[in-house]
Amino acid sequence: MIRLTQITKSFGRHQVLKGIDLTVKKGEVVAILGPSGSGKTTLLRCINYLERASGGEISIDGFTVNCRNPAKADIHQLRQKTAMVFQQYNLFRHKTALENVMEGLIIVKKLSKEEARKISVEHLEKVGLGNKLDAYPSQLSGGQQQRVGIARALALNPDVILFDEPTSALDPELVGEVLAVIRKIAREGITMIIVTHEMSFAQDVANHVVFMDDGVIVEEGTPTEIFGSPKEERTKQFLKRIT
Ligand code: ATP
Repeated sequence: MIRLTQITKSFGRHQVLKGIDLTVKKGEVVAILGPSGSGKTTLLRCINYLERASGGEISIDGFTVNCRNPAKADIHQLRQKTAMVFQQYNLFRHKTALENVMEGLIIVKKLSKEEARKISVEHLEKVGLGNKLDAYPSQLSGGQQQRVGIARALALNPDVILFDEPTSALDPELVGEVLAVIRKIAREGITMIIVTHEMSFAQDVANHVVFMDDGVIVEEGTPTEIFGSPKEERTKQFLKRIT
């Protein structure tokens, strides 16, 4: 289980997160929705400490980090429990698909090259790239690169995978293949938090939907509750604008 308690984040005088409380159960797929600038990406980045929250607590499977005064070892441990899939894929350009997935297993998980290779091949096959192991990012489509990014995250076997708008950099015709892969792994019971603008995908794949605006969680619930009968005026307005 993941529990965020009163997470705050300011950039200078600009308070971007204003006290976020969120509980995510094991195996849950959470979609975070909200207008541009509402703090969705910042929240995700705070969860694995790519961004340091100004205050609050992050707890993953009973391991708790106080964001104001974290010990270095705690940050390291928190990062081991999470993996991130980025909007812009963030692959090493000079490494093949296989090497990109192996890297974290060797450096972070300290596996031998042989073990890392075996696990990486398995996960690249899972995302449909078993025939692209030796391809460099420049030889892959955006959708294929993002699938390497997903294989890389999966291979680390984290407690939670954080997806930061995983399809927003893709040409429309490539969005479907990436969503299909995410849908497939969601069915395997991996805990996921997904920041997305793909409403029909969120409705279909998530079992917990969070609507954020202006640094706060305005409303959360099941997809049926949020999409079918939102309670808050801000949620209603947002959904009306984008659907
Ligand atoms: P979008 O849907 O457009 O990606 P978002 O809801 O993910 O938006 P964030 O990217 O979290 O929003 O940004 C929230 C606010 O924080 C924005 O006003 C943004 O300009 C600001 N912000 C984000 N990162 C930084 C930073 N490194 N330095 C200063 N301000 C930042």
